[in-house]
This record gives sequence, C-alpha cells and structure tokens, in this order.
Amino acid sequence: MSQDISINSLSPALYVVAMPIGQWGDLSPRAIEVLSQVDVILAEDTRVSGQILKSVGVLTRMVSFNSHSEVGKAGKVIESLERGNSLALISDAGTPTISDPGRFVVSRVIECGYSVIPVPGPCALTAALSVSGFPVTPSHFFGFLASKSSTRDQELDVALAFAGTLIFYEAPHRIVDLGKRLDTKAVGRSVLFARELTKTHEQLIRITAGNCENWFIDNPDRIRGEFVVVLGPSKTKRSTCELATDQLLNMLSRELPPSKAAALTSEITGIPKRTLYRQLTGKSEA
Ligand code: SAM
Repeated sequence: MSQDISINSLSPALYVVAMPIGQWGDLSPRAIEVLSQVDVILAEDTRVSGQILKSVGVLTRMVSFNSHSEVGKAGKVIESLERGNSLALISDAGTPTISDPGRFVVSRVIECGYSVIPVPGPCALTAALSVSGFPVTPSHFFGFLASKSSTRDQELDVALAFAGTLIFYEAPHRIVDLGKRLDTKAVGRSVLFARELTKTHEQLIRITAGNCENWFIDNPDRIRGEFVVVLGPSKTKRSTCELATDQLLNMLSRELPPSKAAALTSEITGIPKRTLYRQLTGKSEA
C-alpha cells in the first residue's frame, strides 16, 4: 500500500535518506519528495549533494554534517526537532550510517523520543551482496579494515575465522594489499570484487583467492574506482582455537558489557581488545 506525503505533512522526525552510489537515476521518487519537504538537510558534503539535489529540483536548505561535527551538531538537531522541524540526513553516496557518519545523531534522536524514519535505497553493501551468489545467511559486514598493517592483519584473521560470507569496503589505494592478503590467508575461497557499482566502468570480478593480486597487477587500470569485496564462505572447518575464542567472547558478553568482555578475552587469548570488541559489536570502540 503506498502512502502519499503531501506538502507540509512531515511531522518532526529525522529521515535517513539513501542517495545514489553512482547512477543519479537511483535516487528514488520518495527520497526526492522527502528531501523537498523537510526543513533542513544534513549533508556530508553540501557541494557534492547540492549538484544532484539541484538536478531534481530540491532546493531545501543544507547544513554540513560529517564525522568531525556529528557530536557537536547532535544537540542542534534535537533543538530543531523540539521546534517542530523535520530533518533529513544524507551521505555523499549510499545509505547514511553504513560506514558513513550519522549513527551518533540517530541514537541521540531515538534517546530523545523522536522518530527516525528510513527512506531506503542504494547501498554498496547490499548491491554487491545481492549479485554475489554467496549465501547471505550467515554473512558478516566488516566495513573497512584498519589501514595500519599489523592491525589490518589481526582484523583480517578475526574476520576470516567467521566461516560465512564476509563483506569488506576498500579504498582503491589498498585494494591490491587486500587481494594479496586474501591470496595467502583465504586460499581457495571464492571472491567477488564489485567495482564501480552502477557506474560506467562497473565490473564484477569473480575470482578465487590465490589469484587476486595478479589480477590487479596484470592491468593497473583495474585498481581505479570504488570496491566492495565479498568473500564466499569457507569450505574448511575452523580451528578449535578459533571456535574457543568465539565461545569465550560470546559467553562473557552475556554477563558483561561488550568492552569488558572484549578486554578479558583479549587478556586470555592475546587477540587485540579492539578486534574482539569489533567482532562483538560490529563497531570500533568509542
Ligand atoms: N554509505 C555507503 C553505502 O551505503 O554503501 C558507503 C560509504 S563508504 C564511506 C564508501 C565505500 O563504499 C567505498 O570505499 C567502497 O568500498 C563502497 N562503495 C561506495 N560506492 C561504491 C560503488 N559505486 N561501487 C563499489 N563500491 C562502492
């Protein structure tokens, strides 16, 4: 059943609106309608979003909002809701809060008793996973691995202990490095490099770990653009040690806050606390 949104009918709420990840045509009619009707749009980069919004006739006032300003601006968002305004949160591309700013303000709005309303649409994670052909359950979205080599290695080890489908976001200047690590740590697992989704040079590269680095080295043009890396499930059983770590972490997390459970498991196993906390919550520790 469809629901029409008539002019000025928006009640005070924060609308979390998905933007295109390449093709502007993927901006949904409902997104355009909501973005036209809210009082303010919180945008990661007002210049980037301004271009697409102008192209569809959205003239709503924009305020810049990014990971640095998020905490400071949350109070202003609440004040604006108290005055009866409606606001929209958008990212440069895709769905806000998915490896993008917004989680803090969303949680503040919820705590203060206001509605948070999704306006779903493009997301590189779901786009890549939906064409991967790999099982979606169980799957784990890891987002970006750390940039520091040793932390990256530890995070990847923890991620690979999960036997289901794994999804990573990766920057072009680190994609060969990730391919190389998968070649040694995940040999034989199926990989999808989903490159430049919905854009002119979209490419879905289906490959087996062991061949990833060479595929990029063969043609440096392949390194350009944005990537989602989807790793198919492990065909081998996980080690007893990996299973024991998971069990310990899960048992402790039933009794203790995630930070404490991660700290104790880290003390026992030697795995960095940050990695365990992330495994448990899917988030970096505040
Ligand atoms: N919020 C976004 C979403 O919903 O997908 C993700 C933002 S995150 C800062 C940017 C990362 O998403 C990129 O480094 C890349 O891994 C992935 N990404 C975004 N657009 C993409 C595209 N068109 N093709 C492939 N990956 C993309």
